[in-house]
Amino acid sequence: MAAKSIQEEPAIAPEVRAKYEAVIGLEVHVQLLTNTKIFCACSARFGDPPNTNVCPVCLGLPGTLPVLNKRAVELAMRASLALNCTVHEHSRFARKNYFYPDLPKGYQISQYELPLATNGRLDIEVHGTKKRIGITRLHLEEDAAKNLHEGFSESATKSYVDYNRCGTPLSEIVSEPDIRTSEEAHAYLTTLRQIMLYTGVSDVNMEEGSLRCDANVSVRPRGSEKFGTKVEVKNLNSFRFLQKALEFEIERHIHVLESGGRLVQETRLWHQNENCTVAMRSKEKAHDYRYFPEPDLLPVHVSAAWRDEVLGSLPELPEAKRSRFVAAYGVTLYDAGVLTTSEALADYFESTVKSGAPAKAAANWIQTELLRRLNDSGKEITASPISPAALGELLKLIESGKLTAAVAKKVFATMFDTGRSPADIVAAENIGAQVDDSAIEAAARDIIAKNPDNVAKFKSGNEGVFKFFVGQVMKATRGQANPQAVNEIVRKLLS
Ligand SMILES: [Zn+2]
Repeated sequence: MAAKSIQEEPAIAPEVRAKYEAVIGLEVHVQLLTNTKIFCACSARFGDPPNTNVCPVCLGLPGTLPVLNKRAVELAMRASLALNCTVHEHSRFARKNYFYPDLPKGYQISQYELPLATNGRLDIEVHGTKKRIGITRLHLEEDAAKNLHEGFSESATKSYVDYNRCGTPLSEIVSEPDIRTSEEAHAYLTTLRQIMLYTGVSDVNMEEGSLRCDANVSVRPRGSEKFGTKVEVKNLNSFRFLQKALEFEIERHIHVLESGGRLVQETRLWHQNENCTVAMRSKEKAHDYRYFPEPDLLPVHVSAAWRDEVLGSLPELPEAKRSRFVAAYGVTLYDAGVLTTSEALADYFESTVKSGAPAKAAANWIQTELLRRLNDSGKEITASPISPAALGELLKLIESGKLTAAVAKKVFATMFDTGRSPADIVAAENIGAQVDDSAIEAAARDIIAKNPDNVAKFKSGNEGVFKFFVGQVMKATRGQANPQAVNEIVRKLLS
C-alpha cells in the first residue's frame, strides 16, 4: 500500500515543515435533535432494532410525498443564529442524485444553491490566542441509511442495510478554509460541539454518529496566496482521529511537494488501525450529482418574526458565559473555561456561589473534588449527590474557620457517598468545632513537656522547630483543630 510506505518515511525536519502552510476547511454534519425524521413521522431515535423506524416515505416508495418537519428548520435556525449566520427568508431543497444501497430513492434531498443560512463565524482559541473562523454556509438535508458490513451470519458475502437512519434530519455546517493547523481544527470542532449542546440543536455524539466531520486539506508555500491541490478526508469519527488524519495529510503533502511530485485532487479515507489515509476516489471518478430543485417540496420561508423569536430563545452562549464568569466572580479564564464546559456545570457553579460560598473556593472545589468524584463514579453533574446548596454550606464552614481543608475533604467524601448535609456529618461525627481552645492547649502543653530539646532549639532562635510543634498538636487532635488557633496557642506557650 503506497500510503503505508509514506508513513514509514522519517518525520519532516522542522525547517522544511516551516516553509509550508496548511489550508483546512471542515464540513461538519450535525444530527438535529428532533423526535421524528425530516420528511415523515417515523421516530429518529438512535439504537432501535434495524428497520423498525421506517415508512413508505423514508423507504422512497413511489407515490409518497415528503412533508417538511418544522422543528428541524427551527433547530437549524438556532444553530445558524448561534454561529452568527444570516438566515435567509427563502431557501430551497434540491435532489442530489446518486445510486447506492443506503439511498432508496436514488437521490438525497438536500439544500444546494439556496441554503438556509450563510456567512457566519466561529471564534476559537488555541494556546491563549483567539482566531475567527468563517462559516460559509449551513444547510438542511436528510441522512442516508446505514450499510452494515459486519456482525451478520452472511456478512462475508453480503452487506446489510438499516433504514432507521434514512431521513433523519441533518445540518451540514461548512467552514471557510481559514484553519491552518490540526490544533485549530480540533478547537473549531470542540467549540462548535459546545455551541450545539448549549443551544439544544443536537446531542453531538460522535460514537452514535450525530456529529460527523470531513476535512478539506491542502498545503502551500508559506506566504503564497494560491491554494494548493485539495484533498478531502473522510471517516474522521473522533476528535483524535481528526487531528491525526490532518497531521498525516499535511506531512504527506509536504513529502510529495519536497520530492518534486504532484498531488492529485481526491477523496481519502482515514484508516484508524493503520494510522494513515488511503485514496478512495479521484476527481475524475467524482460523482456528478445532477442537482435540480425538489419538485415535491415548497421553498422554505422563514419570516422575520419567526427568526427573531428563535434568536430571542437562544441561551447565553459559552463564550459570553466565560467572559461573564471572569468579570463577575474573579475566576481565571482557564477556570471559566472548565466551568462552562456544559450549561449544567455552569449552572451548578453559579448556584453554589448564590448560596453564599466564596466564588474562587467554589470554582476550585468543583474542578478538583467534585469533578474527580463524579468522573470516578461515572456520574453526570446533573446526578451529583451533593447539591450546590450543600457544597455552599461546606465552603462556608471552611471560610469561617470551623473546618480545616483536610477535614472538609473527609466531610465532602461522606457527603458524596451518603447525600447527607455537612452540618449533619459534622455534628454526628463530632468533628470540627468540637476541638475547642482548652483541648488544643492541653495537647500543646503535653507535647512541649515531652520535647525539651526542641523547646531549647526554638528558644535559641530555630524558627523551623515551630512547625514541628504545630504538626504534633494537629496530629494529637486528629487534624480536626483549627490550624489558626493551634498556631496562636503554641506560640503563646513557647514564648
Ligand atoms: Zn418514515
